[in-house]
Amino acid sequence: MVNDTTRLLGLDGLIAERVELHPDGSPVVHLSTNDEQARCCAQCGIRGTRVKGWVLTRPRDLPVAGRTTRLRWCKRRWHCDQPGCPRMSFTEQVPQVPARARITVRLRQASGAAVADGNRTIVQAARDLGMSWPVVAAAFIAHAAAVLPAEPEPASVLGIDEVRRGKPRWSFDEVTQSWTTTVDRWHVGFCDLAGGQGLLAQVEGRTGKAVTDCSPSAAPSGFNRSRPSRSTCAPCSKPPSARQCPTRR
Ligand SMILES: [Zn+2]
Repeated sequence: MVNDTTRLLGLDGLIAERVELHPDGSPVVHLSTNDEQARCCAQCGIRGTRVKGWVLTRPRDLPVAGRTTRLRWCKRRWHCDQPGCPRMSFTEQVPQVPARARITVRLRQASGAAVADGNRTIVQAARDLGMSWPVVAAAFIAHAAAVLPAEPEPASVLGIDEVRRGKPRWSFDEVTQSWTTTVDRWHVGFCDLAGGQGLLAQVEGRTGKAVTDCSPSAAPSGFNRSRPSRSTCAPCSKPPSARQCPTRR
């Protein structure tokens, strides 16, 4: 039965059984499953009929009324009796909390939006929402990729600038018997100065070779496009020539 607490929480498919207070004063919400689709096998789609056991999960979620809210979802593990299905058993899942997810979908989306639309840094958004920065970075990339076009418009005026980022790292090359830079402390950013598209790409290094290797398709005439692209876009680790860097705005 749906109660007021369940409506307040707003997690479809889950029902709030009771709320306790953690020693630090934050609420601990105990949840149960309230969705028949939750016990459908993710592999074959057949509904489970035999319970294998119970699992207690603690997915992290958005704060409620400004307070960190701890979720405790006691869900069932089902046998999959469908002949030929490779999945022997599976746990219940709902749209906001997929199987093996440690955070809710809405928390992940909120962290990406906080960076992309709220102008928060990745580290700050991670601190505010109690998440790790790699997870927030991935959420930001997913958020940006969904709203940015696949290809930017050609840039009539290409801006190039260098930025210092992190510490350099080197490795010893046994063939040449010399040290080579594996992580450069410098990055070069490309931006659209006239079209308002913001940052187009960011590549590692600040040499002329690093610039020409990037070879952005949006470069103005005269920009060297003949060299193969070997650099990668540092924020998203994709080739800049793929024009998928979600950091541009
Ligand atoms: Zn199955």
